Amino acid sequence: MAAVESAGELIVERGEGVHIWDESGRRYLDATAGLWYCNVGFGREELAEAAAAQIRKLAAYSTFGDLSNRPATELAEHVSALAPVPDSRVFLTSGGSDSIETAAKMARRYWHLQGQSDRTLFVTRERAYHGMHVAGTSLAGIEANIAGYGAFVRDVLKVAWDSPQALRDAIAFATPQRVAAFFCEPVIGAGGVFAPPEGYLQEVREICRETGVLFVADEVITGFGRLGDWFASRRWDLEPDILTCAKGITSGYLPMGAVIASPRVAEPFWSDGTGMWRHGYTYSGHATSAAVALANLDIMEREALPTRALALETELAVALAPLADHPLVEDVRAGTGVLAAVQPSTDAMAEDPTLPARLVAACRANGIMTRSLASEALQISPALVIDEAGLTELRDGIGAALDACC
Ligand code: PLP
Repeated sequence: MAAVESAGELIVERGEGVHIWDESGRRYLDATAGLWYCNVGFGREELAEAAAAQIRKLAAYSTFGDLSNRPATELAEHVSALAPVPDSRVFLTSGGSDSIETAAKMARRYWHLQGQSDRTLFVTRERAYHGMHVAGTSLAGIEANIAGYGAFVRDVLKVAWDSPQALRDAIAFATPQRVAAFFCEPVIGAGGVFAPPEGYLQEVREICRETGVLFVADEVITGFGRLGDWFASRRWDLEPDILTCAKGITSGYLPMGAVIASPRVAEPFWSDGTGMWRHGYTYSGHATSAAVALANLDIMEREALPTRALALETELAVALAPLADHPLVEDVRAGTGVLAAVQPSTDAMAEDPTLPARLVAACRANGIMTRSLASEALQISPALVIDEAGLTELRDGIGAALDACC
């Protein structure tokens, strides 16, 4: 709000592929794919057609109780077929934060149905981002996102982001009979793009298995291609009990998210004779969002974008590598999925705390749209359709911005 007050707002008007244009006609290479979502790139005519066709037929209708609509049912089946655990069930939401709240409630409800109502604790990681709703805010490991609200959900234990032993200790401290779930982004995104240390994910997965704690993979960013597979959990064979996703499911053309429940978690909800699970959103299974999601997944399959992303992870890392030699750069994190971060030097930021904001502005001035993440690193997560020319444009634009800030 203060930024708008002092400098006015920048109105983004249109997009095409990896580029966006503001109202004055200035073009930017979008380093971020919106907020990590536009996996197929902007301006896809067939997604506009899919939305228009569905709106003409039935824009939306409740999916409560026994009701559904054809796109929602087809999408749930399609996502289930892509899921890391076979025969999973899919709960459609309106976005990532909804998916997190749904997963948190699902985890506790699961244990309640198992007769283990004391399993209410959640374990989460420092640096984590799990959305903006009440449970998600409490689960966040980014201090600035929690400060000033008190504890919405008190039953949260936070552990170091990179230490399996810290998870083991936290579960032992609480006793496993009290812990419902461990929430884990396979690659930390908004916290600053931190890939898991070698073996970390396999080890924390195993700890959850040993202690019975549900493993929740938060794949709101990593789902739908960005990690070189449909889900990071497939790439690393994590078999999550619950998986949360959003963003790439529609490439952001319309809002939608999903929670994928493995058969273990889904079973008691389907067999429970005590009544329905009283949880659902007005726009759960929104027919037009679902139709666009199906068309979006068609594009991803036809153009083999998850496979393309696997090749891109190296190409992106190679393209950005020279930036690591710049005096204002501490670190370039890249090489795991189409995700990267350019971390400004700690010394330079100590000297000038406005450096991250100046860098973002200088990127814009040099035709690159990005933003500063929680660690103050620049976010790099372009659409999965970026080509060699786009990668060069990205590197040169950031390089020029760094030079301008010296
Ligand atoms: N979880 C993760 C890992 C995210 O990165 C985000 C959003 O960036 C969310 C949850 C929340 O998603 P949304 O902003 O769609 O509510």
